[in-house]
Amino acid sequence: MKVKYEEMTPKEFLEAVEKMPVFIVPTGLLEWHGDHLPLGQDALKAYGICLRVAEKLGGGIVLPPNYWGRPGFSTYVGTLTFSDGLIRTLFWELFEQLRKVGAKLVLVVTGHYGPCQVDCLKGVAEDFNRCHPDVYVIVQPEYEGIEIDGEVPADHAGKWETSMFWHMYPQLTVLEEFKPGRIKVHTYPDAPYNYYRESPVWEWREDIRIVSSPELGRKAVDIIVDNLVKLVKQKLEELKRL
Ligand SMILES: [Zn+2]
Repeated sequence: MKVKYEEMTPKEFLEAVEKMPVFIVPTGLLEWHGDHLPLGQDALKAYGICLRVAEKLGGGIVLPPNYWGRPGFSTYVGTLTFSDGLIRTLFWELFEQLRKVGAKLVLVVTGHYGPCQVDCLKGVAEDFNRCHPDVYVIVQPEYEGIEIDGEVPADHAGKWETSMFWHMYPQLTVLEEFKPGRIKVHTYPDAPYNYYRESPVWEWREDIRIVSSPELGRKAVDIIVDNLVKLVKQKLEELKRL
């Protein structure tokens, strides 16, 4: 079963929309994530989760990962962040386009967190849902509603992100590059849209090499995927009853 939007032929696309008019949108950022994870980790993590959600759902169409979002460690090496207006317009128009091609339900999974990003995207979805009762947009960071052994599986390049990424992309995880304690990060002092005033010194509170594992990542990803699948199924049932 094909689930990737960009790989479908027109016939496959029309059949996929007919079978399940659900579009799954992975979004993140190009952002510093320690020395051991790639800059695209947030979007790639969300993408890996979205593909697994579609597989488990047995349908739905997954968009390519989107890397444009709100801050973000804007001054840190490799990080690209954008203004509220641009991101609102981008997502509003994306939702309109997905509605045009037949979406009834849109699930946006943001692998990049922080109120700056999450409130922005949730705000767009709320406005969109109010204006278009024939489509429903859900936006959430993947950890929303999840607790694993009393912990919310969310951090910045820490135990949870590293473990989930390691499980899904072992070839892109380079723990040999990790240095514990205080590290100096290459920064750009003149960053536009600079929301946070970051210190060029980052301090790891844990040794990521000791606390992370692909097994923990698998556990977290499986729980997150099951939760999102449940959410989509529930919403589809609700929409059918309307
Ligand atoms: Zn992250």
